[in-house]
Amino acid sequence: MIRNKPLKTIDTLNQTTPESWQQQLSHAFSRVDTLCHYLNIDIASLPELQANASFPVKVPRCFADCMEPGNPNDPLLKQVLPLQQENMAVAGFVIDPVGDLAAMAEAGLIHKYQGRALLITTAACAIHCRYCFRRNFPYGNNQITPQKLQRALDYIAHHTEIEEIILSGGDPLLLSDNKLEQLLANLKQIPHIKRIRLHSRLPVVLPARITPQLIQLLAAGPQKTILVLHANHANELSTQVATACQQLKSHNITLLNQSVLLKAINDCADTLSALSEKLFECDILPYYLHQLDPAHGTAHFAISDSKALSLYHQIQSRLPGYLVPKLVREIAGAAYKTPLIR
Ligand SMILES: *Cc1c(COP(=O)(O)O)cnc(C)c1O
Ligand code: SF4
Repeated sequence: MIRNKPLKTIDTLNQTTPESWQQQLSHAFSRVDTLCHYLNIDIASLPELQANASFPVKVPRCFADCMEPGNPNDPLLKQVLPLQQENMAVAGFVIDPVGDLAAMAEAGLIHKYQGRALLITTAACAIHCRYCFRRNFPYGNNQITPQKLQRALDYIAHHTEIEEIILSGGDPLLLSDNKLEQLLANLKQIPHIKRIRLHSRLPVVLPARITPQLIQLLAAGPQKTILVLHANHANELSTQVATACQQLKSHNITLLNQSVLLKAINDCADTLSALSEKLFECDILPYYLHQLDPAHGTAHFAISDSKALSLYHQIQSRLPGYLVPKLVREIAGAAYKTPLIR
């Protein structure tokens, strides 16, 4: 047999090994000044910032690398800047805008929609998105301890109408491979679970998390695995993200994306069309386009329903149907995510 040329030459060995996803996470930016320095942006050119935001800054470097250096209006930068405006009380912008607390079946388990239940696996995220509807969520009371997890699993086992489990958080892909493996093994013992869905921003904001081991875990079956990503702008989808997604897809993991409409970030038909096109290049189908959930501290991101509908009609007239996400909003107590167009 002819031996392949060794892959590692002296040169490549001398290069520094890439950081693991855990290392990248621990080196994420936690201050606006260091982030701005990295991006060559003068802090004085930004709107007024909060000094000690209770929801702290967190931005992985690879996400910062998708921002345009020198641009204080970069659409990715705007998603992570802690502005003074967050502290304003705005009528209608509340702590639990989507009624999750009322729909809590067990600690950490939200059973709101027929056939599906959502498990909060961790409070942690790799990035802190300022528009997040869960930014005020009382995670402390809903931390998933082994006892609480057992109660959630018992609930799922007793409710045979639940066919799909949604792993959410925080970000479920921040669980270690071991924890995730255990959780999936527990869920797979429940015969009526047909689908396991993960909602995660990690493939986009920390693509190094998509390791071959993780892909094996997710693709092991027998249930179908669906990964719903969360990208709001085409610039978030770097080559590294595209590669990670193509690997997931080649292991039969269904890839969908949800976005949130955000003022001065993606509230433009060109931007939304470019996002859909780019998602498709990465083997991801657009799923939902959300009107912002009115969480306290997020009012400066909101756009009106008439603007949202006008954008929707514009992208609908430009794109093939499969690249048009459903425009929805979450209404507390409703039986499904409610389309803006009825
Ligand atoms: C969004 C959500 C779901 C999933 O809804 P789909 O329309 O199936 O995507 C399930 N449970 C909760 C609590 C949710 O917020
Ligand atoms: S839950 Fe999602 S939107 Fe909210 S901060 Fe975490 S990654 Fe961002």
